[in-house]
Amino acid sequence: MPEAPEVETVRLTLDPLIRGKALGTPWWSFLPLRNRVPDEASFRFLVGRPIRGTSRHGKVLFVHSETGGLVVRLGMSGRCLVQAQDAPLAPHTHLRWPLAPGETELRYVDPRRFGDVRPFVDEEDRATVIAPLGPDPTTLDQPAVAQAVSLALRRTRRSLKAALLDQALIAGLGNIYVCEALFIARLSPFRAAKGLTAPEATRLLAACHQVIQDGIARRGTTLNDYVDAEGRQGDNQHHLFVFAREGDPCHTCGTAVRRKTQANRSTYYCARCQRAR
Ligand SMILES: [Zn+2]
Repeated sequence: MPEAPEVETVRLTLDPLIRGKALGTPWWSFLPLRNRVPDEASFRFLVGRPIRGTSRHGKVLFVHSETGGLVVRLGMSGRCLVQAQDAPLAPHTHLRWPLAPGETELRYVDPRRFGDVRPFVDEEDRATVIAPLGPDPTTLDQPAVAQAVSLALRRTRRSLKAALLDQALIAGLGNIYVCEALFIARLSPFRAAKGLTAPEATRLLAACHQVIQDGIARRGTTLNDYVDAEGRQGDNQHHLFVFAREGDPCHTCGTAVRRKTQANRSTYYCARCQRAR
C-alpha cells in the first residue's frame, strides 16, 4: 500500500512528464473507485488547461492546473502512470487523460479500486482535503511541528502503532514505515502512547522523519505492486529492518523478528530491541 515515500516518488517522476501539458477529455472504465463512479462532467473544466505542477500531503497527490486540478489517492493498489497513448492498457486501467502536445497520456490503474481520483476546483476546495490530516512526516524535523505532534501523541491511550497510523496525527505513515520507525526508536508497537516520556516521543518522531526521508531517497518500497509514474519499482524493500522479515535475525541483536496481528494488520518487531517495559 503506497505510503508517503511511494506517493512522493510517484509525484517526483510524474511531474516532469506532465508539467506544461494540457489535459484532454478523460476516458474512464465506468467502474466505481473507492466511493463512486467518476463523473466526466465534473472533470470538464480541466480539459484543455495546462498542468502547472504537482504537490503532495501525506498519501494524497495533487495535480495542479491553472485553477483547480486533480486529487489522487492511490488507496491500496493504485498506480498513476504516464504512457504512450497507443501503449497496451494494463488490466484495471480506470481513467485515461490524453496529454497535449505529444502522444502520451496519464493513466490511473487500480486492481482493488480503493483509490480515488477526483477534481478540486480551487485552493479552498483543496484545503478541505488537507484539513483533516496531520502534518506531513517530512516536516517532523521542524521543532514546532514535532512538539505539537509529541503533545497529541502523548495524550492518546491507543498503542503507539495505532496512533502513528492515524492520519489525523501524522499524515503519510502506513504499516511499513510505522514498523520501521518503532524499531529504529527501540519502542514496542504495543506500548500505550500515553506512557511515552518526552525524550521517547522526540526519538520516535525523529525516527518517523528518518524512515520517510530514507524511503523517498530509495524511491519507495516495492513489496507487491507499487511502481512510480514510469513503471519502475522502488529500492527500499532491500533496506527494511523488521517489516516482512518474520523469522529473520534482527540486524541489531540477531533475535528472530516477530510478527503479531494488531488491529487486523501485521506488526513486525524485535522483542529484544523493542521491549514493552
Ligand atoms: Zn533486535
